[in-house]
Amino acid sequence: MTTHKAIHIAAALLASAAIGSIHAAKLNVMTTTEDLAALAREVGGDKINVDSIAKGYQDPHFVEPKPSFLLKLQKADLLAVVGLQLEIGWLPPLQTQSRNGKIQVGGKGYLDMSQYCQILEIPQGQVTRAMGDVHPLGNPHYWLDPENGRRIAKAFVTKFSEADAGDAAYFQQRYAEFDKRLAGSQKGWEAKLAPYKGRKVITYHRSWPNFCERFGLQVVDYVEPRPGIPPSPTHTLEVINTMKRDGIRLILVEPYFDLRTPNSIAQAVGGDVAVLLPSVGGKKEVTDYFQLFDYDVNLLVSLFQKYK
Ligand SMILES: [Zn+2]
Repeated sequence: MTTHKAIHIAAALLASAAIGSIHAAKLNVMTTTEDLAALAREVGGDKINVDSIAKGYQDPHFVEPKPSFLLKLQKADLLAVVGLQLEIGWLPPLQTQSRNGKIQVGGKGYLDMSQYCQILEIPQGQVTRAMGDVHPLGNPHYWLDPENGRRIAKAFVTKFSEADAGDAAYFQQRYAEFDKRLAGSQKGWEAKLAPYKGRKVITYHRSWPNFCERFGLQVVDYVEPRPGIPPSPTHTLEVINTMKRDGIRLILVEPYFDLRTPNSIAQAVGGDVAVLLPSVGGKKEVTDYFQLFDYDVNLLVSLFQKYK
């Protein structure tokens, strides 16, 4: 082998090693909730590592800020949050203590998904404590509308492509596939719930305005007297009276609330409590964004059928 040729081979090897290492370095993505992680996975595929802080079976307003998350936040390239103060009770100390400049509010790797989505229940005028303890900036449970799921996925594509320009086409391709699959699934969900359009329901917390608006259901009242405030006997009685007056049979409850009050209301009106999942991971078998809607839509249909 001539020296000249050997140099060429060595250069080629170096170049391929460099390319290999660029591709091996996956983006480290942290999200606050499992829903955001599931959507990140849809477009990020095997070019990202992703993990969430809150689990889908936990109340996302109240999560224990375990120190074990610090290590993951220290190494994160991106942190995606729901925003609208959903995580205000637990995320800020973790962010600060991570000492990772990229993921601080306003940092290059900080992604507040509420800025890309349709937000409901934005308070008009002055916000006071009398309105409740949570949701002061609008309803943060907006991921429960597939249209917002699509917007979140799109925001991930933009951010991932900024951080890893070499894989921009890959992210775009995965988004196109996700978008198509979501459109098909959404048609199916809408068709299943179409016969029940206009049905009135009670929900425990205000987790469902986006979901109910998308699928044509009407939320009439809540088990909580105000967002984040536990049930009171006076308000419970009002809910029972409303349900009797309007012939409402269903109370939708998130999996992390005490079932005693909802059960007693259901018993008083001859109705049912439906434990609906607000998040991916709410049950072990619900591992992605599609399965979340499949689960909720099928459960609702089975209960609506009961009360024709
Ligand atoms: Zn809430």
